[in-house]
Amino acid sequence: MATMADFRYDKATWCPGCGDFSVLAALQQVCVRMGLEPEDVVCVSGIGCSGKISQHFGSYGFHTLHGRSLPTAQGVKMANQDLTVIAAGGDGDGYGIGVGHFIHACRRNVDITYIVMDNHIYGLTTGQASPTSKKGHKTKTSPAGVGEEPLKPLELAIVSGASFVAQAFSGELKQMQNIIEAAMKHKGFSLVNVFSPCVTFNRVNTYEWFKEHIVNLDEEEGYDPTDKYNAMKRIAETESVCTGILYREERPAWHEYVLGATETGTVKQTLDITPADAAGLI
Ligand code: SF4
Ligand code: MG
Repeated sequence: MATMADFRYDKATWCPGCGDFSVLAALQQVCVRMGLEPEDVVCVSGIGCSGKISQHFGSYGFHTLHGRSLPTAQGVKMANQDLTVIAAGGDGDGYGIGVGHFIHACRRNVDITYIVMDNHIYGLTTGQASPTSKKGHKTKTSPAGVGEEPLKPLELAIVSGASFVAQAFSGELKQMQNIIEAAMKHKGFSLVNVFSPCVTFNRVNTYEWFKEHIVNLDEEEGYDPTDKYNAMKRIAETESVCTGILYREERPAWHEYVLGATETGTVKQTLDITPADAAGLI
């Protein structure tokens, strides 16, 4: 039985206090809790500070190109349904350069979990505005304040057909663990957007700021995550600063719908196409 130590690979090099440490710890703890072995898991990451997670997490890993974690992760899962596949990255990686892949991954519903460490800034490149930076936020690339509305990943995921949409906060480890576990157990594409503060370059959206503003919908009496229209309404009412399992829907995952049930777990033996062919479908 694997332990936390088995899911550690090397010493994380993030700045002390970076929210990404909590995400890594939560992921490791959930894998242990679920009885997974490191060789059963693949972590595919994009570019950015958070993209380093595939180097720090003790499973199979693939550090891909900028914005390309999702097509790679979907290809891995299509090639071998037996693997637990995690895609991970930041808001710049996933909602900037990778946003086209994000939309299609939502509607495709391949059975993977996508964890986005959303700090509302480009951290690795030292503090430029990202797609989720709030309007008016002054950064190196927006000295007069960001002029655009922020991209809304939760709403975008829901309208694009995601079957599991959740949001967590690095300052609430227990809730984040429960959310990541539910996401990994969900059959289909699951998004876990995590408010993961960048303590070095974002002095606006700090741990304190999130603690002050977050509305925890997991604790809201009567909140029903299967009610899509109410989910959209509550997310909008909280200006997207809410946590919890916000929306979930049961529907066949891509491999069940397109490939049918497979005994071997390989695309090749089900459709007589190679994993490379499967990757071409993306
Ligand atoms: Fe984390 Fe920001 Fe440091 Fe990057 S720059 S490791 S996001 S605190
Ligand atoms: Mg970022």
